[in-house]
Amino acid sequence: MSTARILDGKAIAAEIQQEIKREVATFVEATGVQPKLAAVLVGDDPASHVYVRNKEQACRRVGMVSELHRLPVTTTTAELLGVVERLNADHATSGILVQLPLPRQIDSQKILDAIDWRKDVDAFHPYNVGLLSQGRPQFLPCTPFGVVQILFRSQLKVAGKKVCIIGRSDIVGKPLASMLVQRSSPVGDDWANATVTVAHSRTPDLAAITREADVLIAAIGQPEFVKAAMVRPGAIVIDVGINRVGDRLVGDVDFQSVQSIASAITPVPGGVGPLTVTMLMCNTLIAARLQKIG
Ligand code: NAD
Repeated sequence: MSTARILDGKAIAAEIQQEIKREVATFVEATGVQPKLAAVLVGDDPASHVYVRNKEQACRRVGMVSELHRLPVTTTTAELLGVVERLNADHATSGILVQLPLPRQIDSQKILDAIDWRKDVDAFHPYNVGLLSQGRPQFLPCTPFGVVQILFRSQLKVAGKKVCIIGRSDIVGKPLASMLVQRSSPVGDDWANATVTVAHSRTPDLAAITREADVLIAAIGQPEFVKAAMVRPGAIVIDVGINRVGDRLVGDVDFQSVQSIASAITPVPGGVGPLTVTMLMCNTLIAARLQKIG
């Protein structure tokens, strides 16, 4: 039985972080400004704490400043808006990240809409979503951009290929579809120009659609949901899912069975995950440059 090439997200992320580190040093030398990421963490969700810590460590690795604003779980929308507005006005802050999910009483959309689009390193602001949809993005959302980087750095082209994305979230599925159907991408036209199908929870006969795909991307949030029977032999499989099952982290793809039929596959952990935080560093540098331009 043949087994798929394992796409090593950790190694790719380390390579990109080295490049960002050099670019940050050049930027600091030219401008005297050290890019700074302000992360806002509301409440005490353990997973959010881990994500924010990873982001702080990544900032340090690439020579950026990170600043953490911790707010109590009882914070109101108005209070959080006040924090965002202070950070918008602060010249030393390049990028603002409000860690999701927010506690229930907070209007998340209102908060994300309030972030200055020039500091919107998650690319969730409607202005940045609109620019992406028109094919002229300033920021690309971190996880979809990470998926494109894995494909690019593994020299797996998507132009002219049938790509199926399972999942239509605003964070992963929709923006990734938007990126892959464009005429160009920041890493070249071969990582755009795909024929994209977006499947979701209301898609009938899902397997018939996924089996058509040359590139199958799972962003579902269901542990080991994609089985070998849903995958075309020789397909490239990208697993965005991160699910905790007992004390194990697993993806949305049943890695064991799918790796025997796919030509390439990302593992969980060590696949898309490390790229997400890396592309956040990339976006923070873009934000610092944007603010220098004014
Ligand atoms: P979400 O819950 O917002 O969206 C899930 C999507 O999957 C929905 O659009 C839904 O229609 C679809 N879906 C759910 N059940 C389905 C089914 N049975 N059949 C077909 N489609 C189905 O999730 P999200 O924020 O997009 O995250 C998806 C997964 O990716 C999660 O496991 C999340 O933890 C992970 N994630 C990972 C990273 C990373 O850095 N690797 C970043 C963001 C999210």
